[in-house]
Amino acid sequence: MRVMLVEDSSGDARLIEEMLREAQVAPVEVEQANCLAGALERLGDGFDVVLLDLGLPDSQGLETLLRTREQAPHLPIVVLTGFDDQEQALQALQLGAQDYLIKGEFAGAPLSRTIRYAIERHQTEGMLRQTLAELESRTAEMETFTYSVSHDLKEPLRGLEAFSRFLVEDYADVLDDQGRDYLNRIAKASARLKDMIEELLTLARLGRRPPQLERVNIRRVVEDFLAANEMRLKESNAEALIEGALPDVLADLTRVEQVFGNLIGNGLKFNKSARPSVQVGLADVTGGWVTFFVRDNGIGIAPEYQERIFGIFQRLHIREEYEGTGAGLAIAKRAAEALGGRVWLESEPGAGSTFYVCLPLWEGSGRISRKRA
Ligand code: ADP
Repeated sequence: MRVMLVEDSSGDARLIEEMLREAQVAPVEVEQANCLAGALERLGDGFDVVLLDLGLPDSQGLETLLRTREQAPHLPIVVLTGFDDQEQALQALQLGAQDYLIKGEFAGAPLSRTIRYAIERHQTEGMLRQTLAELESRTAEMETFTYSVSHDLKEPLRGLEAFSRFLVEDYADVLDDQGRDYLNRIAKASARLKDMIEELLTLARLGRRPPQLERVNIRRVVEDFLAANEMRLKESNAEALIEGALPDVLADLTRVEQVFGNLIGNGLKFNKSARPSVQVGLADVTGGWVTFFVRDNGIGIAPEYQERIFGIFQRLHIREEYEGTGAGLAIAKRAAEALGGRVWLESEPGAGSTFYVCLPLWEGSGRISRKRA
């Protein structure tokens, strides 16, 4: 095992080297650097681990860790320090150090164990990172594929639509009732196919275009949706209410519109109440995340279907009962995930549904993006 020991005190360095040799777990070769510049120059040379003192003549504190990580992201780093500073220890771990040891508080065997674990953990993390990168690139490939296939499918569909329209216009009187019925069905099926292709394109676009993050006012998004659907609400004697104040989020306006539009639309559509009702409100704000609810008094969803409905083209009803392609929730889920958030639900058949949407809270212009904890 080759250890790069970055330590400016030769006394401390000798002590650590001695400890490692005495532990005798595996043959150890220790190379010492007494400043950061000297260490960074040599880090490419096949080391297994870096033992890093944060206070060096040419670099102090977490800056030392950051510069070392930047130069050698492939190497595990164990921080050694003379100060028992819990805050700094936590920050060092968050910045990617594998461990944080206080000088004078460890002996040879635990030190060598810490080093071995640090190396193993770093390898596992590396494998995970690689798998994640592969997954992301495959997802991107799939999205590009879906996008181009959907796009290509539109052309023959246009032909199908046009010729069935010509048939209706020019030959309807030559056909008998059954012939006209068949033609009608072809027209309906191609309209449906067109909707499905449009939905697939929307879904594929979600992965292809990076979100344009900005401050988004959820109340306005909901009010705009309701204004655009005013007639539909009136016709079905439905009501939609915003309960209380809704905090702003850091999001992409189009995606937020996709999430709330689909959820509110579904709450009104899958609803047999005499007065269909949807409420939108605030469920929770914690640690930079805000959760909204979209509650309806609709038909509800049995527990065994609550995951399935987020799949593309998954529907629980026949078309004649409720119209739709079954892509709305898949789009809502993907749109929320593209913003780092998520969508989930609580529901019981006959007792309505509550969908939850978790998104990053707008915390001022300083914040750019954040991963969900
Ligand atoms: P669509 O609305 O086009 O059918 P969605 O993806 O939006 O597709 O929803 C998938 C299925 O989930 C719906 O067909 C319906 O069966 C069920 N569903 C979605 N939202 C609700 C709701 N609020 N109440 C009851 N069922 C719902």
